[in-house]
Amino acid sequence: MRIQFCGADRTVTGSSHLLELNGLRILLDCGMYQGPRDEARRLNQYLPENFKSIDAIILSHGHLDHCGKLPVIVRQGFNKTIYCTAATAEVARIVMTDAAKIQEEDADYLNRRGRAPGEDPIEPLYRSTDAAAVLKLFRRVKYAEKQDLGSGVSFTFFDAGHILGSAYVVIEWNEDGTNKRLLFTADVGRYDSPIIRDPVSIPGVFDYVITESTYGMKDHGPIDAVEPQLLDAVKFCIDRKSRLLVPSFAVGRTQTILWYVQKFIQEKTIPSIPIFVDSPMGVDVTEVTKQFRDVFDEQTLAMIGTNDLFSGSRVTLASSSQESRNINSQPGPCVIIASSPTCEFGRILHHLKQSLERPNDMVIFVGWVPPGTLGRRLQDGQKRVKVFDRFYDVRCQIRTIHGLSAHADGNELLRFLGPTLKKETAAYVVHGEEDQAEGFARRLLENGVGRAEVPAMESSVITSAKGLPGDNKGATQPAASDGD
Ligand SMILES: [Zn+2]
Repeated sequence: MRIQFCGADRTVTGSSHLLELNGLRILLDCGMYQGPRDEARRLNQYLPENFKSIDAIILSHGHLDHCGKLPVIVRQGFNKTIYCTAATAEVARIVMTDAAKIQEEDADYLNRRGRAPGEDPIEPLYRSTDAAAVLKLFRRVKYAEKQDLGSGVSFTFFDAGHILGSAYVVIEWNEDGTNKRLLFTADVGRYDSPIIRDPVSIPGVFDYVITESTYGMKDHGPIDAVEPQLLDAVKFCIDRKSRLLVPSFAVGRTQTILWYVQKFIQEKTIPSIPIFVDSPMGVDVTEVTKQFRDVFDEQTLAMIGTNDLFSGSRVTLASSSQESRNINSQPGPCVIIASSPTCEFGRILHHLKQSLERPNDMVIFVGWVPPGTLGRRLQDGQKRVKVFDRFYDVRCQIRTIHGLSAHADGNELLRFLGPTLKKETAAYVVHGEEDQAEGFARRLLENGVGRAEVPAMESSVITSAKGLPGDNKGATQPAASDGD
């Protein structure tokens, strides 16, 4: 068996790993790299060697850094099955379509700015039609149902509790007469997160683990601390008849905030106030979330009864720009959840213009904001900021709620991996910045794992020369690694 590391190695984006076993080539995720423009362009054009001979793709969930390069590989000629859960197919459809639109607009903008004489126009990485072509290859499969990939190889999805439809992957095969098992954690969620279920316990011990490590050395603090902080912010705005702005990711975080506010209303902790979701993608994902009650946790099912999710509140989903503009004249109290969390682009900018100079309005950040962005300047308490082409004095309230991460922290990851923290397990630590990945690899070793490595991009590890396709047969000694 060989694992080739094709992305999210010593970084948190671009998840992709190629397995070769029993003559099959299986790609785990095909995610987009998000980072500086030139590096992103190079890495997002990179595909594994002989990618057309890949037999199947297994997609863990619909975040862009896990599905965003599917249109690239399909555009280049990959035409086999892409396995995912039904909810992931819907989330990935929205995410890939949005990514295609952004790339088309980006290429248009750069081409309009003019090119040097003789320079070819910039082509978008992919177009909406490429994203649409991916959808035809999706095979929707259920959690906990073993899928036969042929050649004695099977895989099973289990709920990873990360976002709607997210899964971790268990791959099983026979090698040299012994049964082998590999766990690909993809992204693991937090326990007790709203709406979706907790990560399902991993079934038994594994020979190989490819684990994420996004927050491998961090501690998010208790998730219970989130609710009182959000409640206090909403009450602040109700008491002052003012507006609460929540710059938020469209996928997952928007629905989580909606869920909390609906809970406050339902428990009569606050009166019923208008809530706006102002982001086309946020609206689409909210609509899709409602359709998948079979993946809701017990608390959410008990809360909604036979109703639709979010139907009990005065929620307005603003898709069109006219609907968005109407929110500007909305008096408080109200909650406005809008993209993007960085405040660098998206409809949140129009709402910031209205609210920044009003002392009774509040902007509440619900997660980490990257340095160098408007969101971060506000979060850090800067008193004068530029929005579009005008400066504003920041007189509104600014707060941050930590603890709403969709990723398990280090202790939660160790709790999740518990059954396989054994000396017979070899772990490959991916999907984390170098300090997080290296640190988490050390923690795995301290907790009993026999071997833990942090592979480099484009490196590979061969555990057995048997079953490798083509020229690779018998090429390398078992257990050799060029990963580090
Ligand atoms: Zn994710």
